[in-house]
Amino acid sequence: MNIHEYQAKEILRQYGVATPKGQVARDRAEAASITRDFGGQSVVKAQIHAGGRGKGGGVKFAKTPDEAAELFDRMLGMNLVTKQTGPEGRKVQTVFISDPVDIARELYLSFLVDRATGRVTALASTEGGVEIEEVAAHTPEKIVKVAVDPAIGLAGHQARELAFALGLSGESFKKSGVFFQNLYKLFVEKDCSMVEINPLVVTTQGDVIALDAKISFDDNALFRHPEIVAYRDLNEEAEAEIDASKFGLNFIKLDGDIGCMVNGAGLAMATMDIIQHHGSSPANFLDVGGGASEEAVKNAFRIILQDPGVKAVLVNIFGGIMRCDIVAGGVVKAAREIGVTVPVVVRLEGTNVEEGKKILSESGLRIQVASDLDDAARKVVASIR
Ligand code: GDP
Ligand code: MN
Repeated sequence: MNIHEYQAKEILRQYGVATPKGQVARDRAEAASITRDFGGQSVVKAQIHAGGRGKGGGVKFAKTPDEAAELFDRMLGMNLVTKQTGPEGRKVQTVFISDPVDIARELYLSFLVDRATGRVTALASTEGGVEIEEVAAHTPEKIVKVAVDPAIGLAGHQARELAFALGLSGESFKKSGVFFQNLYKLFVEKDCSMVEINPLVVTTQGDVIALDAKISFDDNALFRHPEIVAYRDLNEEAEAEIDASKFGLNFIKLDGDIGCMVNGAGLAMATMDIIQHHGSSPANFLDVGGGASEEAVKNAFRIILQDPGVKAVLVNIFGGIMRCDIVAGGVVKAAREIGVTVPVVVRLEGTNVEEGKKILSESGLRIQVASDLDDAARKVVASIR
């Protein structure tokens, strides 16, 4: 789960991680009054779950309270297009007013889970304010990695290693140690999957502060963080994904042509691979999970069909706990109710497979039944050629 910058900064403050003062404005008058409180100037920042806002026009400097009100008006409701939103952009529904900071240096710092080592790892770079992917692609030597031993936590020498890598000295060096330790504590206690501070700023006074903050949480740990769940902003989530989550289904939007209904993440991966192998690519995948009802399967099929990218559908179910006759029943019901205009290929295997195939063949619908996974992928790819 992702949250907004202003929410991430609330958490940073709770952990004593330095960040500029700031407040969400509800209307233009409030944007002006917050700016007045900050001494007459502010940074007006669009809150969307995507980075690159600065370049897209979502971070603007206001020299007066009136200008902040103007910028607030212009920003609220605008469709913000950044490198990370894709060409369709994202509608701005929240505007954050930040106390301006005089920047001496812009640096980069993040903590994430490195799956190769299985450890929380800090990444630090002197190249702040630009996308870390760019730095990694062109000047990887400018990124320093520090893996944290979970039994020890971020050790003093590791915090110093990060500070050296960032070229900090004097008071900034000392302050950065506290900053890194507190950020690591936050990461672990809140079950984060990533905390990214870009830019981490050294101010002209030598303070070390988080000018921007992005936090992602491990969804599997959300059950023990109701305070984090309360930050969820449904405006930022794809409608189909919210729709799917209501039925306990897991929907992922991709950008190919074939809609995929599967059970289990492993089968989803295999299904996507074999579609690619046969020369096409998935438009999405929807995982119906272990014991979905006919009603859930029907909704799964509906959600897949509503994706405008779908040119054909592949249903690939290996029935263990999930029964093939329930899948077939759900697919047939959905097809009757919604009407299907794209080719559908179904591959069923496992529990009650014969009943499932019978339901499909007796439905009178134009559904191709495949003999195995390879055959299914071949047929569905051929159907859109
Ligand atoms: P992003 O573009 O979505 O990553 O948004 P950021 O919050 O990182 O802001 C983008 C850029 O705006 C930063 O890298 C800074 O260069 C600049 N910026 C943001 N806030 C301030 C501020 O308070 N003072 C100054 N001088 N620049 C700022
Ligand atoms: Mn940023």
